Amino acid sequence: ENHTISILEQQAYTDELTQLLNRNGLDQALTTVWAFCKRYQKHIGFIMADIDCFKNYNDTLGHYEGDNILRQVGEAIKACCKRETDIVSRIGGEEFLIVLSDISDTYIVKAAQEISQSIAGLKIEKVGQCSCSPFLSISMGIATATPTDELSPTDLYKGSDAAMYKAKNSGRNCICF
Ligand code: GH3
Ligand code: MG
Ligand code: MG
Repeated sequence: ENHTISILEQQAYTDELTQLLNRNGLDQALTTVWAFCKRYQKHIGFIMADIDCFKNYNDTLGHYEGDNILRQVGEAIKACCKRETDIVSRIGGEEFLIVLSDISDTYIVKAAQEISQSIAGLKIEKVGQCSCSPFLSISMGIATATPTDELSPTDLYKGSDAAMYKAKNSGRNCICF
């Protein structure tokens, strides 16, 4: 029975399509990491990533191939986040949230650039009307802070989301801080 329970727990925290954390899993992992960073006054950073013009893939190639692409993008992101404390989640259709702890602003920007290059390296050709790059790309928003009593994970979530929209408005396929 214990085995069954741990499998159910695992499923409750995992996104079935990509095998990354889902929203539940993200919240769970974040609670621990946030508390740790607050206690030891470590810097923590959120990267919000959203695939550019993803709707075109579904519309042109179908939902099945769309899912396939989501899996590849998930794997590419995961492969860039090698530290044991790195949190990688799919929080919506084609939106990923990455949380890195005990990092500098310079390091997190480098990490985002690495993710961007890794995704470009998949060489998934663009379909439909989308001029931001010849291959599938993502727009990213970064927000960082050292946790205090006045700050919550929601603040960084909102900050990284706002930065991601700025990246979309700046022509996509780019990173905003
Ligand atoms: P933008 O560059 O502004 O982000 O454009 P976009 O087309 O990526 O953004 P939009 O939010 O308009 O479309 C996201 C699309 O993602 C809508 C839906 O067709 C697709 N989608 C959401 N969840 C899934 C999923 O689980 N599987 C597949 N195949 N597609 C999904
Ligand atoms: Mg999108
Ligand atoms: Mg989206």
